[in-house]
Amino acid sequence: MQVYDTHCHIGLDEVPPDEDHARAVAAQVDAMLVVGIDAATSAAARALQRLDGVRWSAGLHPNDSHAFAAEWPQIDALARDPSCAAIGETGLDCYRDRTPLAEQERSFRAHLELARELDKPVVIHCRDAFEPLFRVLADEPPIHGVMHCFSGGVDEARRALDFGLHVSFAGPLTYKKSDELRRACAFVPLDRALVETDAPFLPPQSRRGKRNEPALVVETLAKFAEVRGMSLEEAAAATYANAIALFG
Ligand SMILES: [Zn+2]
Repeated sequence: MQVYDTHCHIGLDEVPPDEDHARAVAAQVDAMLVVGIDAATSAAARALQRLDGVRWSAGLHPNDSHAFAAEWPQIDALARDPSCAAIGETGLDCYRDRTPLAEQERSFRAHLELARELDKPVVIHCRDAFEPLFRVLADEPPIHGVMHCFSGGVDEARRALDFGLHVSFAGPLTYKKSDELRRACAFVPLDRALVETDAPFLPPQSRRGKRNEPALVVETLAKFAEVRGMSLEEAAAATYANAIALFG
């Protein structure tokens, strides 16, 4: 079995990324996308390519969009590196109101333009912001990419799929109250579904309140398989192939 964690932030906290990576490989998680949230973490993600199976992205998190003017030139330059697999994470977040929505939208649109110019997938963060986010996407010509840590129901999943996006499921899929999310998981076509950890955040049910790491994507994948009535191995193979096609 091979498993792909399509969204993690190893190296973001005090745990050495080599340790997270080694435990992931031992758990058959032999590929991961390390996602940048600003210029410094995007550059750090690029440096983690030294680890087997690591791909990386460059972007500015919506909650840091107030720093757009200062951060963007370096993120733009990093994104043009041929080894950069994706643009983001970007998107909109109405849950935390640190940054006005207009500033978030400006940054989001810049990411979408760059992704289109470079023909790279975009990694989209959406928290309590489906309506404004879908409005921006409707303005933009077709793109490819992923709704990371998907948090909606069947309706929102259908709309994301209609934009050509993949839908990625994280630890909340395993939470007891996430029935609506599990219905969305059962709905998404198998060739458009991905799994991720968002580590070190959002640990799955068995580790709630603790730190998350890429090895734990297997727990989310097991729930994904259960929800869809398939074996863990089949779920791994399908989501792995999807991730390779999107991020390499
Ligand atoms: Zn993230």
